[in-house]
Amino acid sequence: KCCLAIDIGGTKIASALVTDQIITQRQQIKTPQAEAATRMATVLAEIMQQYDGKFDAVAVASTGIINNGVLTALNPKNLGGLAEFPLLDTIAKYTACPVGLLNDVQAAAYAEYRVSGEKSVNFAFITVSTGVGGGIILNRQLQIGPNGVAGHIGHTLADPNGPMCGCGRRGCVEAIASGRAIEAAAAQWANPCEPKEVFARFRQGVPEAVALIQRSAHALTGLIADLVIGNDIQRVVLGGSVGLAEGYLPLVRQYLQQLPHFYQADVVPAICGQDAGLLGAALWMQDSLT
Ligand code: ADP
Repeated sequence: KCCLAIDIGGTKIASALVTDQIITQRQQIKTPQAEAATRMATVLAEIMQQYDGKFDAVAVASTGIINNGVLTALNPKNLGGLAEFPLLDTIAKYTACPVGLLNDVQAAAYAEYRVSGEKSVNFAFITVSTGVGGGIILNRQLQIGPNGVAGHIGHTLADPNGPMCGCGRRGCVEAIASGRAIEAAAAQWANPCEPKEVFARFRQGVPEAVALIQRSAHALTGLIADLVIGNDIQRVVLGGSVGLAEGYLPLVRQYLQQLPHFYQADVVPAICGQDAGLLGAALWMQDSLT
């Protein structure tokens, strides 16, 4: 069985054929920004035509929330002209094959779960990148939810008195731990810098950088502990440029180990890289059909 996988991100759209975890004929284009909805429909039509006749199913991983086939987001402004885009209808126009849609981080979670050999029954993936995203697998089933929202764990509460989050709620994990949050804090310094440089200073032991990264890792550890105690999660995979930055995972592990036994889980780095969305969407679709 061959699956056409499409990964719609904020900056790029990737597509490929996936059979037995092997990715072929991968292509990538920029995500339309101006006149986004009209041009997105055209881009998807072109992709469907390029791979015509070569697949048995279509799986789409997209940024935002896929609510009953329609693309939306916690903060629809993030999607610009793509808010409320009819993703399922647009794709179904070009194929009689089954079409599956899920959020890109849900897809990445599924890829990490399957590729890691599925040793755990309950599993979570957390990406600390520009924002903080997640995907949860319970009883070996990827959680998507009736509105596609499941796994948006970056928007759980870290600090009721914390900074305002882009989602409209105060003190989310994302508002404290994310790359964007680190960037905003470091921009206020006497010697401001980007998150990558914040990490360099953190590793050199510069106090304000150490405090900022500790704050992020502490909020993330709280999230992991909550997931473990709430869902009996056995294994957590950490991804994203911040999550995988040198020194971050050891800090998270150190904080987690300071908590009581019932909050403990294995925390390991992500291994799927850039193609996690494509791979995860395809694997999830294939597993859903069998
Ligand atoms: P995306 O959010 O688009 O999925 P990333 O996972 O690369 O992409 O996350 C981007 C965030 O990570 C930005 O806030 C960026 O400043 C930060 N970042 C990028 N490179 C590094 C690095 N080497 N170390 C720490 N942070 C980084």
